[in-house]
Amino acid sequence: MTQTSEGMVVRYALSAPSDSFAFADKDIIRDQWRVTTPGLKLSDGVVTGDGPISGFELMITPDLAEVDRVYVGLSRTGNGFVLYGPGLKGEGISTTLRAEIDGASVAVPSSDAIDGYVFVGPKDYVADYGDALVIAPPQLASELDQSIRNEFAGSRAFYRSRLGIAPTLKPVLVVSVDSPGPSAFRGDVTDTGVISLRFKGEGWRSAQEEVSPFVWHEAFHLWNGHGVHNRDGDTAPWLHEGSAEYAAITGPVSSGGMSEDQARARMSTKMNGCRRTYQNAGGRRPALRSGSAVYDCGTVVQWIADLELRHAGKGDFFSLWGRMLETARSQADGFGTAEFLAALSDTSAVHLVLDPQVEGRWDKIRDRLADLGVTVVNAPTDQEFMAAALFHVAKANCLTGSYGFYNEPGALKLDGENCGPLSGGPIIDSVEGFNPQAVGQAMFDAVKARCAAGQSVRYRTRDGRTLEAACPTEPAVPQAWRIVEAPSFGR
Ligand SMILES: [Zn+2]
Repeated sequence: MTQTSEGMVVRYALSAPSDSFAFADKDIIRDQWRVTTPGLKLSDGVVTGDGPISGFELMITPDLAEVDRVYVGLSRTGNGFVLYGPGLKGEGISTTLRAEIDGASVAVPSSDAIDGYVFVGPKDYVADYGDALVIAPPQLASELDQSIRNEFAGSRAFYRSRLGIAPTLKPVLVVSVDSPGPSAFRGDVTDTGVISLRFKGEGWRSAQEEVSPFVWHEAFHLWNGHGVHNRDGDTAPWLHEGSAEYAAITGPVSSGGMSEDQARARMSTKMNGCRRTYQNAGGRRPALRSGSAVYDCGTVVQWIADLELRHAGKGDFFSLWGRMLETARSQADGFGTAEFLAALSDTSAVHLVLDPQVEGRWDKIRDRLADLGVTVVNAPTDQEFMAAALFHVAKANCLTGSYGFYNEPGALKLDGENCGPLSGGPIIDSVEGFNPQAVGQAMFDAVKARCAAGQSVRYRTRDGRTLEAACPTEPAVPQAWRIVEAPSFGR
């Protein structure tokens, strides 16, 4: 492969001519890959031509978007690139990848590039810290640059001491501010110990408190995601993502980068996020294979495990993971959910989260958390109260089709065409005399009282009408938990 200003040129030489060449990994997005050898074309991950193929040339330019849980084929960092080696592997054949570079450039790592991310670009982006390399372009804002280097060093030292094992390879962290988005930042780690952190321009500025947990999360994958085989990586990503996410709370709290208050708030958000997914699945356990539930529920599982182990005096999250990973390194089938669950008691409350169906699941989880020293209160925001009241009344009036509302600043607009008196997208200034956008809870209480008495709910529209919507049943108080007390997250 060779670097150009647009991307990477990769030249394939096959050991024997073949009718076609198929890429092994079908999930990689290749819409920015072009075969430049005349007479050949690439479609659906297969290169074909009119006759036998003995070699070809590929031009790869950077991916145009980040996609959830898919490695990026090629991303830019300053004047360099990060290429995902496994995306270049041929199906059923052994593939090696070699970089052709000039004196001012480097390829990192220099060997086994085919097995993970490889950075190809200016030599002077690379800083060697002895136990790790950091690669960053000079245009990185110095405050972001400093904070990433500090957090990366802090997290490595902390994990090494708490888990009792070192990473199997010298880790490489590559930072980019050239992510195409849509997210403000994304990161992942490959089997070769290369972490790629990709920020979308200056987007990180509006989420600065996220930078530290982000680095700690990715750094944990150096332990739980490479140098060891995770048997259930695809089927139960909640295990490796949840542990990385939980480590990214306890770690920063322990090293002073996050307060206990912030940790409780973070964990509250995770618990509510997880709970919502179950609610949307009718109370059953969702698959937990994609979306934010993987992270939210995975973190809740690890928190419960940590609390239980500490409560029983049997170590903690880090001792469990350290032991499990150390054992897994010497075993071909690695580790998975079985080993994790076996390290907990049979009656562990993690089963309340993981079992397919549990009667009164979240009440039971709250009770078990209380036994472990956690106090949870229900504290919905005004906006959550507002949404609960609006959806409750809409459900009783919207007979078919979808319904909802647009909460635009200063203009709450109902949505739904088959909603009786609420149809037609009216802008609502008040419900039962209360401005829903200003005093959601007061409005909820007023709606609740009307519904309990079997009376209609009165909506005042911006154009001066009063809409009377039937409300035969009382709305339930929305559930949004806040952890007000918990054992320390720090170590
Ligand atoms: Zn992760």
